[in-house]
Amino acid sequence: MKPIKLSVPHLGGHEKMYVDEAVESTWIVPLGPFVDRFEQSIETYLNTSSVVALSAGTAAIHLGLIMAGVKSGDEVICQSMTFSASCNPIVYLGAHPIFVDSEDETWNISPYYLEEAILDRKKKTGRFPAAIVAVDLYGMPAKMQEISAIASKYGIPVIEDAAEALGSTYQGKMCGTLGLYGALSFNGNKIITTSGGGALVCPDEEADKKVKFLSTQARENKPYYYHTTIGYNYRLSNVSAAIGCAQMEVLPERVARRREIHKIYETALKDIDGIKVHTNPSPDFDSNFWLSTILLDKSIITRTPDELRMFLLERGIETRLLWRPMHMQPVFSDAPYYGEECSERLFANGLCLPSGSILTDDEIRRVTDLIKEAVGNN
Ligand SMILES: *Cc1c(COP(=O)(O)O)cnc(C)c1O
Repeated sequence: MKPIKLSVPHLGGHEKMYVDEAVESTWIVPLGPFVDRFEQSIETYLNTSSVVALSAGTAAIHLGLIMAGVKSGDEVICQSMTFSASCNPIVYLGAHPIFVDSEDETWNISPYYLEEAILDRKKKTGRFPAAIVAVDLYGMPAKMQEISAIASKYGIPVIEDAAEALGSTYQGKMCGTLGLYGALSFNGNKIITTSGGGALVCPDEEADKKVKFLSTQARENKPYYYHTTIGYNYRLSNVSAAIGCAQMEVLPERVARRREIHKIYETALKDIDGIKVHTNPSPDFDSNFWLSTILLDKSIITRTPDELRMFLLERGIETRLLWRPMHMQPVFSDAPYYGEECSERLFANGLCLPSGSILTDDEIRRVTDLIKEAVGNN
C-alpha cells in the first residue's frame, strides 16, 4: 500500500507551464514579472496592499523584526511552542528571545503570560521588549484581539508568524494581516509551495519599499554600488514565483480540502475515548488546518504519542510529534521563560496526523482505522 505522508507538495496544474515561460523569457533571476504577479495574487487573496516575496519564511521574520526596529541587545518575546524559525532571526540580530507559554484553546501565545513577561522584563531591565512574535500554530489563529490589546498598551509591535496559516481567518480577517508585519512561508510542506520561499506582509507602501531594498542587498539608487546600510540577499527568484503563481490559483481549493480532512478526523475520532482532535475554539477562529492534530489523554490511552507514531510508521503512515517548545531546546536553555506547563503538556500528549490536501478520503480512513486499532490494542 502507498505510504501516507504528513504533508507533501500538491501541484495545481500550471506550474510547469509558468516555469517554462519564466525560463524561456530568461528571467531566471531574482525579481521579474512572476514575482510581481505572485505578490499581487497574495495581496488580493489576503485583501491587503503590500506583500513582498522573499526566499523563505525565515527571511520574512528576520526582515519583519528589523522593520519593527529590533536592534542588537534588545529583548524579543516569542511563543515558546513553535518551530525554531520563529525565533532564530531574533538571535541573528543579536537580540535575546524571551519565551512565553501557550494557552490550551489555540495552543498559541498566552495573553496572560505575555503581559506578565512584558511587565517582568520591564522591571528587570528597565525596558519593554522590542517586539512580540505571535505564531498561528498548525494554522490555528492566535488570540490576536487580546494579544494586540496588550501589545498596544505597552507600545510593542507584533510580528505575526503566519507561516502555517495562509488561508486561516480570525474574526473574519486573514491570518498574516493581523500584526504590524506578517510572515508567510512557501516551503515544501506548507499549504502551498514555491519549492522554497516566503513573503512579508507590510503595513504600507513605504515599508514595502524598504523591505524590497533590504532584501536586495540595500543597494542605493546610484550608477555604482553604494551602501549606507547592511542588506540581505532575500528576494524570491522569478522561477520560484512562477510556481507560486500556479499554486495561488488552487489555494482556495487546498484550504477547503485541509478543512475537509480535519472534519473527517473529527467525525471518525469523536467517539474514541481519550483522543481529542484540536479544533476551532469559537467561531472567531477559522483554521486552515494545515496539520490536523490530536491530543491523547494518558489516563485513558496507554500508548504514548511516540508509540502511536511508531505503530503508524510501521504501517506506512507518517505522523509527527508536536513542536518541542523552545524553552526545552538546549540551544535556548539560557533564555527566560514565562508560563506554566501548557506547552510542555501539549508536546507530551500531542501528535500531528497526515493532512496533505493530496490525500484521499480512503487514505484518511486508513489512518483513523489504524489509530482505533492502536488504541483498542491497549
Ligand atoms: C515553516 C515555518 C517557518 C519558516 O519558514 P521557511 O520558509 O521554512 O523559512 C517559520 N515559522 C513557522 C511556524 C513555520 O512552520
